[in-house]
Amino acid sequence: MKIPIEVSARHIHLSQQDLEKLFGQGYELKKFKQLTQPSDFAAEETVDIQVGSKSGGKKFDKVRVVGPLREQTQVEISLTDAIGSGTIPPVRLSGNLKNSAEVVLYGPVGQVELEEGLIIAQRHLHCATDEAKELGINNGDAVAVQVGSERPVIFQNVLVRVRDSYKLCMHLDTDEANAAGINKIGEGVIL
Ligand SMILES: [Zn+2]
Repeated sequence: MKIPIEVSARHIHLSQQDLEKLFGQGYELKKFKQLTQPSDFAAEETVDIQVGSKSGGKKFDKVRVVGPLREQTQVEISLTDAIGSGTIPPVRLSGNLKNSAEVVLYGPVGQVELEEGLIIAQRHLHCATDEAKELGINNGDAVAVQVGSERPVIFQNVLVRVRDSYKLCMHLDTDEANAAGINKIGEGVIL
């Protein structure tokens, strides 16, 4: 079975509280584009972020917000983004933010300074329950996915995340995709 691949550029998931600090009380995200996972959408809103120290770090403007809102704000960047900022965030699965890196967010109304919330995303495979059964894999498994291209790569330790609402798709960050010659979308096979 072919595994579709999508590339995640740097982006932000916001909590209700931080959304209101950045955009104002009672503010609601506006949907810009539906994403492949049925629950997720790219919002119209973007936020500027500061990574590393305020004097010597790096600033990224207009980082896309991805909805819906989450329990805790999470900022995902690539290792290439982080290099030169003075901070190398840990590689983590989404939602696992304990002792992750600090980051500052700037919105049109206010700013939010987070002691943790900045990560490099762990490569992972979204999978619906019936798809997981068909592939013979389970939630929490680590699989290897081979990508055939001009510069073929085998991605190891791809963590499987099974949920009824998910749709089969491997998520890579821009560094991983660039290394395999994937531009935005691609496909692979589980070894
Ligand atoms: Zn994902």
